[in-house]
Amino acid sequence: MIQTKIVATLGPATDSVDMILKLMDAGVDVFRLNFSHGTLEQHAATYRQIRKAREQSGEVVAVMGDLCGPKIRIDPLEDDEFDIARGDLLEIVAEHMVGGPGRVSTNRPELIKEVQVGHRVLIDDGMIQLRVKEMHADRLNCVCEIGGTIRTRKGLNLPDSDLAMSALTDKDREDLAWALENDLDYVALSFVRSAKDLHELRELMPLEDRCRIVAKIETVQAIKHMDQIIEASDVILVARGDLGVEMDLARVPILQKRIVRQCQNAGKPCIVATQMLQSMVDSPVATRAEVSDVANAILDKADCVMLSAETSIGSYPLESVEMLSRTALFTEDEMRLRNRASRVDPALTMRRITTAVAHGASLLARELEAKVVAVWTDTGNTARLLSKTRLGMPVIGLSSEELVCRRMAMYFGVIPVCMERHHDILHMLKDVDVELLRRNLVKPGELIVVVAGTRLEHAGATNALLIHLVSEGDDDAPVFA
Ligand code: PGA
Ligand code: MN
Repeated sequence: MIQTKIVATLGPATDSVDMILKLMDAGVDVFRLNFSHGTLEQHAATYRQIRKAREQSGEVVAVMGDLCGPKIRIDPLEDDEFDIARGDLLEIVAEHMVGGPGRVSTNRPELIKEVQVGHRVLIDDGMIQLRVKEMHADRLNCVCEIGGTIRTRKGLNLPDSDLAMSALTDKDREDLAWALENDLDYVALSFVRSAKDLHELRELMPLEDRCRIVAKIETVQAIKHMDQIIEASDVILVARGDLGVEMDLARVPILQKRIVRQCQNAGKPCIVATQMLQSMVDSPVATRAEVSDVANAILDKADCVMLSAETSIGSYPLESVEMLSRTALFTEDEMRLRNRASRVDPALTMRRITTAVAHGASLLARELEAKVVAVWTDTGNTARLLSKTRLGMPVIGLSSEELVCRRMAMYFGVIPVCMERHHDILHMLKDVDVELLRRNLVKPGELIVVVAGTRLEHAGATNALLIHLVSEGDDDAPVFA
């Protein structure tokens, strides 16, 4: 079994319970609903399919809703597209219109006041490049430097301009309300620029804070404010698609390494995303470069790798997930040989005792070559911390809350197990043995390390570290290993 977690975007290519079950079987841990495409009704239908698949399989999978954020898009075009060549002029007008050769509008009329002469205007992930020549009250005049075909609703990036946009559009607020109503496990915010954007999002979420926040790093401003963004979010997503447009693409590999390392140090999970197996959108085999990219992300210590078009609109969604899984399998083998367990500075919210117990557990587990570390957790935080120590053995995340189990589906090397809450540790151990034996994770007589609280009824009371020999019978086997 692989420890790297896989996020797969659902879409027309994966639109059935049967396909979702197959994807889970192939290794998907988190499904992404991308609000940039499709209607809320369509996402609701997909979500029903996920829940059905979840019920049928009994597997724990998380669901992440991805808010579009202030992404600028070209308004609809006559005939849906037109060509533009180097040297051609294009007006970007404030008033919404059906565009065509020479003139278009966007979903963000204000932008014509926010750019300056000389700034770049990039369309369709930077495939087309324009430069602002003149500014007028109602339009911008741009000249084309790299031509191509402009299509309806394609994205538009302004990497040189400082845009005074609010972090969430009206559509984002609607999508967020739906996500919260439906108990999605994660919401991702696109085009985050600073921690303020994340605070703004958090303020719209209920106090009990059940849904966790993923910050997508895809702007120049986000790179400048990484530390505060990591602190203000629960998970970081390296959104290499837009990042490679907003910044020089050549910088993306090193930025990825830096961001993943910062997340590792901060004890926060990190997803590496976009074009991981892009050629598999229409080919059953990946390129060598793509597979190397996946392996490198895992070696960087990314917790999750993500598929977008490969699974949402591609012809080979299942093959793409299988390719990721197989690459992870071989890469993780090498990683276990190379890596020493690392000490992680926990997020500030963790208790000192919890942190110390988690580190003690990882030391003991390695010293005794334990089969697994099982951790009772009420929030998932102790499992997250253990995940970040990169033990090289499975961490069993035990919780009585299904939502906490689903949340843990995102954490590297953590196998979430939903279990009834017990009041004393000995009873809990019996259930743990049954579950681990049933899943073939251990054999009778093997040693495991258990992290829990002596008073299991109290959340946040992790204070106990046990060495336990798995037993099949009723007796608690003495530990004389
Ligand atoms: P997107 O985000 O797929 O929503 O654009 C990911 C990225 O930009 O890489
Ligand atoms: Mn993006």
